[in-house]
Amino acid sequence: MSNLSLRERDAATIAQIGKLRFSPLSVVGGQGNRLIEEGGRSLLDLSGSAGPAILGYGHPAIVEAVEASIRDMAGASLLLYPNEPAVSLAERLLAITPGNGERRVWFGHSGSDANDCAVRVLQAATGRSRFISFIGSYHGNLSGSMGISGHTAMTHTLPRPGVLLLPYPDPYRPQFSAEEVLALLDYQFETTCPPHQVAAVFIEPLMSDGGLIVPPPGFLNALEERCRRHGIRIVVDEVKVGLARTGLMHCFQHEGLTPDLVVFGKGIGGGLPLSAVIGPKEIMDHAPAFALQTTAGNPVATSAGNAVLKTIEREELVERSARVGALFSDTLKTLAAKHEIIGDVRGRGLAVGVDLVKDRKTREPVTATTTAKIIYSGYELGAAFTYVGLKANVLEFMPPLTLTEDEVAEGVAIVDQAIADVSAGKVSDTDVASFMMW
Ligand SMILES: *Cc1c(COP(=O)(O)O)cnc(C)c1O
Repeated sequence: MSNLSLRERDAATIAQIGKLRFSPLSVVGGQGNRLIEEGGRSLLDLSGSAGPAILGYGHPAIVEAVEASIRDMAGASLLLYPNEPAVSLAERLLAITPGNGERRVWFGHSGSDANDCAVRVLQAATGRSRFISFIGSYHGNLSGSMGISGHTAMTHTLPRPGVLLLPYPDPYRPQFSAEEVLALLDYQFETTCPPHQVAAVFIEPLMSDGGLIVPPPGFLNALEERCRRHGIRIVVDEVKVGLARTGLMHCFQHEGLTPDLVVFGKGIGGGLPLSAVIGPKEIMDHAPAFALQTTAGNPVATSAGNAVLKTIEREELVERSARVGALFSDTLKTLAAKHEIIGDVRGRGLAVGVDLVKDRKTREPVTATTTAKIIYSGYELGAAFTYVGLKANVLEFMPPLTLTEDEVAEGVAIVDQAIADVSAGKVSDTDVASFMMW
């Protein structure tokens, strides 16, 4: 195997606790929408490195911005001094994000620290210590953000005391309808979760790691309305699905939500560590030195952030992700005619999921082994993608927003062949034994 040396080095050095491996792919470079593996083979990237590669790899706008800012570093922190790239980025984010009243921006390094900051500052500023979020939600991997998450991969850590985890209604597998979830919330408010104790609800407007679930129309609106009645703040986690990914600038705009706080991560840094929280002044200015991280808001990462936002505008990536995303979904849907294993193709823009089933009538999910085999086969055929879902049965596609129409055809042809190869038994259990991660 050509990538043996990197694999071995990785295996002997990088801690298990910090990695997900879905295939043997060892990356030595990137170019455009492609990842280069050791030995020089190039693979079409349909996962965007889990989100950050919103403009692919080596996009000139990011390269130029980062080069310029690292040559002329205006300090290395926003903590002690303002720097121009950070202030510009805050201005840009405020301009593109709808919201009411005076607002402020906080910068961090990751979706995890951004949600963590939001939890802490909401509790401190509102004096309320309970939160609502969803089973299946993924808000981060630090104590505070993990404590309000509901992903099954996080059951090793207890949820935050007082957190209320609601089912996220899934139109494809309606174990709980939107009405039932809202009724459950009403019942909780009437009984053991007095609403005046709840600071905020954390919402993924399209649940990604929980299975690429688009909520039923009107559900999030109804949730918002109930929460507003009780002064509960609305936090929208746009970390994975924000910034043009879904065919609008913000995913929450599909749902007509008016969030109080908006959380950005992943794509905003274009590959550099960067996250942001936008929120009302009265919360975000709660106290000085409340949420400090020394290198947060540094000029290099925030320059990359500016380059991402400028490129979204210049290359019309909102419109592009709607158009190319629709083509991607429609082309994937044509595969369902020949592959019984495809139960559902869903998503918005360039956030697309393929739900794999054992049986279309019962909609019983395939096992993680089957999903892993399709990903392994896709890797062998030349494309990188991953899976999500609490049953590990949903192929997830989050490609760079620069994906071309030709690359859609190429990518879907690979998915088609990968499913055919796995159905024909060409991938063995041992091939994927070490690639079933969550
Ligand atoms: C990935 C993710 C996070 C956490 O972001 P990190 O950069 O991994 O810390 C938070 N929320 C959502 C919705 C995510 O997908």
